Amino acid sequence: MPTLAFSDIESAQRAIAEVALRTPLIAAPDLSRKLGCELLLKLESLQPVGAFKLRGAANAMAKLPANTSGVTCCSTGNHGRAVAYSAKSLGMRAVICMSELVPKAKVDGIRKLGAEVYIRGRSQDDAQEECLRLAAAEGLVEIPPFDHPDVIAGQATMAVEMLEDRPDIETLLVPLSGGGLAAGVAFAAKTIKPGIEVIGVSMDRGAAMHDSLKAGRPVAVTEVASLADSLGGGIGLENRHSFPLCRDYLDKVVLVTEDEIYSAMQALYFEERLVAEGACVVGIAAMMAGKLTRLNAPVATIITGRNVDMDTFAAVVAGRDVLLGDVTINGKAYDHG
Ligand SMILES: *Cc1c(COP(=O)(O)O)cnc(C)c1O
Repeated sequence: MPTLAFSDIESAQRAIAEVALRTPLIAAPDLSRKLGCELLLKLESLQPVGAFKLRGAANAMAKLPANTSGVTCCSTGNHGRAVAYSAKSLGMRAVICMSELVPKAKVDGIRKLGAEVYIRGRSQDDAQEECLRLAAAEGLVEIPPFDHPDVIAGQATMAVEMLEDRPDIETLLVPLSGGGLAAGVAFAAKTIKPGIEVIGVSMDRGAAMHDSLKAGRPVAVTEVASLADSLGGGIGLENRHSFPLCRDYLDKVVLVTEDEIYSAMQALYFEERLVAEGACVVGIAAMMAGKLTRLNAPVATIITGRNVDMDTFAAVVAGRDVLLGDVTINGKAYDHG
């Protein structure tokens, strides 16, 4: 049974128009030349909170009753920032629960918006538990990061804009974690243009949606540190919306390594001068690594967020080693050839 209708996406467009930016879809001529394929970039990194998550959060929160005393959520960082931002604009209390794996830059960004921050445990699941406890104890409404029809409808508005700007897009590469983004984008894109190919891309360590699709049901993964920190965490064993939509609307899912993400972050910076999180470049990484051949062009991908830890970003650009949790990603200079 579908949990989403196209009219939900149209109403989301109206609901978020005043909060979220209608971001540009830009040409990436130098990266396209390097890849041998026309690539377009949807710059969600320009959103007020630096990530697309504002769309889903703003849509879900626009629907709350006027007497709502406050909201809570668990987050790998960007959803929390989006909820904090929307709560501030609505004059509402926000409590954001995160795990110790969330980079400091993201925690600081959320505190600056006036939200209360709880750091709990080593995984999204620990943070989620705290969030549910708070919701019950303090009468807060939970705004889930991906498994909610209003959140998914909000993220889906990106696909509508992209196909308005460039109806000729043949392939969409979508960073994939809990799958709210991929579910919404794939559903909207295939409704507008059934022949379009939509491919989800995750990092190969802790790829929860990939493993769940393979198993045919939501499964747990071990969460580890990654350059694509925004893609960490499980999909929820009780997943009701993003899992079935990804299963029914995504053409496939491919995985990339940390080394491939590292090289793609360098390529996006040196070829297009864009600062972006590791999570944004997984599609570019898959193309550079030769994991996506025979794609129909133009190909478009979403630069989902800019809230990268700047020490990490500086190290990647300089070709230095990056220490992430227990692993070191060996530095290498960018190949300008
Ligand atoms: C949340 C997020 C994603 C993944 O979105 P899901 O809906 O969880 O799949 C990708 N990139 C960035 C920057 C994010 O914050």
